[in-house]
Amino acid sequence: MKIVKTIADFNKLRPELTAPVGFVPTMGYLHEGHLELVRQARAENPSVAVSIFVNPTQFGPKEDFKQYPRDPERDLALLEKEGADIVFMPPAEEMYPPDFNSWVEVGKLAERLEGAARPGHFRGVATVVARLFNIVRPDKAYFGQKDAQQLVVIKKMAADLDMGIEVIAVPTVREPDGLAMSSRNTYLNDEERKQAVVLYQALKLAQKLYSDGEKDAKAIREQMTALIGQQPLADIEYISIADAETLDELDTVKQSALVSMAVRFGKTRLIDNVVVG
Ligand code: AMP
Repeated sequence: MKIVKTIADFNKLRPELTAPVGFVPTMGYLHEGHLELVRQARAENPSVAVSIFVNPTQFGPKEDFKQYPRDPERDLALLEKEGADIVFMPPAEEMYPPDFNSWVEVGKLAERLEGAARPGHFRGVATVVARLFNIVRPDKAYFGQKDAQQLVVIKKMAADLDMGIEVIAVPTVREPDGLAMSSRNTYLNDEERKQAVVLYQALKLAQKLYSDGEKDAKAIREQMTALIGQQPLADIEYISIADAETLDELDTVKQSALVSMAVRFGKTRLIDNVVVG
């Protein structure tokens, strides 16, 4: 496994990668969710590239950029085990030199849900992913369903800008109790961690209500809100039931609607989602 920190070094090694090249962008502090993306890339491509970069431009000024967990040694050992061919882990100056001044905006899709709660977030995500795509030049790129809106935004960017990259969704990997794996779960204290399972329970409730015939989005949201409200440390930021492609909010729930939410536990903000059907 090759480890490179500069674009120049990546360019030197790029010709050695046999097509198709599968690419997994991450912010590191890897868990089973990330590794599942790597495994799928490994299974579908002769070459696998992974990036580790905590992207400063996708964090708001009051967010957790500085304290975001980092453990590059452990990450590299895990990637080696999964058989990644090349890991790109640039320092911030490599991705954002002082005169860097071009940005990718994905418009309406990036303005709602996470984009509304975190202004500028998807501008940072789309810009860094576009730049990583141009550096790595993959054929296929793997993203987790865990970040459902990110997936929609990246797919739209790749299509609108004719990037020629197939964007592939990988199902959310969960802890045994159902909590979606996330690098941010390490922020939770014991009591918050116990109560955080309610996100998954609320999503399962939404799925069950829908399967039992409830199609009224407001009624489903109310029941989810009541369930989450039973956990005293949970503070709901939003619960959305939206069209999975346009992200338009729905009054009447339909097949393949995206039920998503952001819930705070103390300082920790968790997101999760399910596609009903
Ligand atoms: P991050 O390091 O948080 O930027 O995540 C890197 C990639 O891993 C993104 O495509 C995420 O959607 C994906 N990912 C994160 N957590 C999970 C999970 N629990 N299951 C599946 N994919 C995930």
